[in-house]
Amino acid sequence: GQCSAHCPTGAIVEYDETVDVWNKLQDPDAYCVVQIAPAVRVAVGEAFGFPIGANLTGKIYASLRRMGFKAVFDTNFGADLTIIEEASEFKSRLLDGTGALPLITSCCPGWVDFMEKFHGDMIDHFSSCKSPHEMVGALSKTYYAHKMGIDPAKVFVVSVMPCTAKKSEIIRSKEMSSSGYQDVDVSLTTREFARMIKQSGIDFVSIPEEQPDHMLGAYTGAGTIFGATGGVMEAALRTAHYYVTGHDAPRVDFEMTRGLEGVKEGRLTVAGKEIRVAVAHGLANVEEVLEKVRAAREAGEEVPYHFIEVMACAGGCVGGGGQPYGATNELRSKRAAGLYQEDQAGLWRCSHHNPYIKQLYADFLGEIGGHEAHELLHTSYQVLPEYKR
Ligand code: SF4
Repeated sequence: GQCSAHCPTGAIVEYDETVDVWNKLQDPDAYCVVQIAPAVRVAVGEAFGFPIGANLTGKIYASLRRMGFKAVFDTNFGADLTIIEEASEFKSRLLDGTGALPLITSCCPGWVDFMEKFHGDMIDHFSSCKSPHEMVGALSKTYYAHKMGIDPAKVFVVSVMPCTAKKSEIIRSKEMSSSGYQDVDVSLTTREFARMIKQSGIDFVSIPEEQPDHMLGAYTGAGTIFGATGGVMEAALRTAHYYVTGHDAPRVDFEMTRGLEGVKEGRLTVAGKEIRVAVAHGLANVEEVLEKVRAAREAGEEVPYHFIEVMACAGGCVGGGGQPYGATNELRSKRAAGLYQEDQAGLWRCSHHNPYIKQLYADFLGEIGGHEAHELLHTSYQVLPEYKR
């Protein structure tokens, strides 16, 4: 259905898919599974009077089970998996020259879309990794379905995202469907999810917390911080450090990537090699970073950066287009703080420590960056011809 609640003339409509999800939940032939993005857990509480940035993960899991989802996964697991694949891609490009540097992150569909239209010369720099919710979707219909003895054709994957661009990402190319099925069937925004909680009559304030289904739901602090600008870079550096040196960094906090400055730059030395990184959020800030890369390329100089993170929304996904309305920098900071607190308090802080990810590779995917991983977890991009530079 269409919802025009926020436009006085009804000319701008937000496509509301909550009815489609309720219908699937009633369908006896559908096996509905769900996942929530990092940034959702620290924002949905605003619709129920919780303090800004309160982390409500356990209540969200419980509510989703009450709604009738048969399995409750977490996109943070997918974020950990994205890091495993992307840090390995980074290590091969850095040490073995297997691809262009800087490596540029590709988990934000707002940015991917923008790059394909306006920065097609950067296509070789993009990480081939699918975004975290796509990875969880692909595994729900293969690994999970197989382990549970469910017909993958019946598995219906819903993702709850802080993002409106995710709604088009799920249908962007056939490449996203190498399991034979579309990875994610419906992507809801945080606002739609808050609406569903209200429609269901669940008492969200007092519902007791629950755990996720761990097979595709257990995660580390590195997965959690994906929801804030700089979080993907920090998570990737934790694991890239391990891949390059064989041991964890003495401190896994890389503060240079944090905060709301438009462009953040940093350098660190790993195994005697200097690694230069940049983080940009808000599409206007991306231009500055890409111009530096182009200038160095044209002058035949060394690359200014080895790794770049880009998020289309100011603040990253905590300030995403699907979040409760009226984001300010104060709100973005408080939501981000809710994510960094969880990272600090967690048992595991690096994606490569996630025991369920290790299990996944041992039982199903085989090698990191191997054939099966490429079939299910990676994708490709294309320059749209009318926009070629
Ligand atoms: Fe979506 Fe914005 Fe996050 Fe990009 S930064 S994935 S557009 S919410």
